[in-house]
Amino acid sequence: MSLINPTLVLNCGSSSLKYALISEDGETRIEGLAEALGNTDARIKHKNLDGSKVDINIPNSGAHTEALQIILGDLIKEYQPVAVGHRVVHGGDKFTKATVINEEVLATIEELATLAPLHNPANALGIKAINDIYPKLPQVAIFDTAFHQTMPAHAYRYAVPKQLYTDHQIRRYGFHGTSHNYVSNRASKLTTQDGDKGWLVAHLGNGCSATAVYNGKSMDTSMGITPLEGLMMGTRSGDIDPSFHLHIHRTLGLSLEEVDTLLNKKSGLLGVSGVSNDMRILEQAAAEGNQDAILSLEMFAYRVAKYLLSLTAGLPVLTGVAFTGGIGENGADMRGKIVAHLKHLGAKIDTAKNDALIRGAEGSFHADDSAIELWVIPTDEEYQIMSETREILGL
Ligand code: AMP
Repeated sequence: MSLINPTLVLNCGSSSLKYALISEDGETRIEGLAEALGNTDARIKHKNLDGSKVDINIPNSGAHTEALQIILGDLIKEYQPVAVGHRVVHGGDKFTKATVINEEVLATIEELATLAPLHNPANALGIKAINDIYPKLPQVAIFDTAFHQTMPAHAYRYAVPKQLYTDHQIRRYGFHGTSHNYVSNRASKLTTQDGDKGWLVAHLGNGCSATAVYNGKSMDTSMGITPLEGLMMGTRSGDIDPSFHLHIHRTLGLSLEEVDTLLNKKSGLLGVSGVSNDMRILEQAAAEGNQDAILSLEMFAYRVAKYLLSLTAGLPVLTGVAFTGGIGENGADMRGKIVAHLKHLGAKIDTAKNDALIRGAEGSFHADDSAIELWVIPTDEEYQIMSETREILGL
């Protein structure tokens, strides 16, 4: 096994850094995670090419640059990356595709922190760290929002005064774009149907979103100006009456920030069940008869289905639904619950196939007489970032 002309893929959070070094054919990779960056227990969990694992402490509360120095100068030193692809969360309406990073692009990514205050500054940190260590290495930004820039205005505009859009860029952006792009592409390759393809992609993990994709273009998506809108998630509420903030402020005296924390961190599966945001724990609690856990699962399934049905409005044809993310890839019971609500689409499950699709397996699970296809497609955002990076650089 060896890594030919590898691309380094980086996903930087404020105190973490996920990395993968992927060969040009996408077949082999080294990967790892640096976490607790900036803290005394900063460490790297690294997986070698042969699958063996090492844990390394980063001395002196190392941050992104120190972590990358250890990764590049030690852990993967025998392989020189040909380029770096960065996951960047918000590209606003400035970036519609993968973009080669220069000083101006970096400055724009930093300016867009107004739209993604937790993410874009961390993404910029990773870019600067590579600049410090390998100033000549080409770097490319792959934006979570870029894939959704093909949405028509009637899908991305909010029904609020026009100036909020023209002067303040208030609109639906959508997220998880790299995943929706990869999964819809893969579904179009796997289906035996010819002609135009319309997919509903359900990315169901701790964060959840659904997208309507027609011939490779995002037509509409559930997340909005921030990732809070749309589906019920692990700890996020998803859609809620916009007067909720005011009502809770008036009745309970919570501040805007407190309501924001409530909706982002204390709601969703966790909030409704009072048990956990983790689907596996909830399924266990439901099996033991916990009524709140049972309700949280029913709500989750119903709301995913309701969104999928509404997104069909954005598709000229419907080929099928593709499930991905930790829940979409592993939660056979949850997939079954969701598809049961899609009866008016004529969706029918092959139960044995559905049950077999877990732990990274890829395949279809529709019955022979189903009107639409049903797929499980494990997402691979790192692969997608690698291939978009190479494509834009002409490698
Ligand atoms: P992600 O954010 O994509 O890593 O997904 C995390 C979610 O996937 C959590 O809610 C997990 O409980 C869920 N998940 C992982 N494995 C399973 C499984 N075997 N069955 C049901 N849900 C799972």
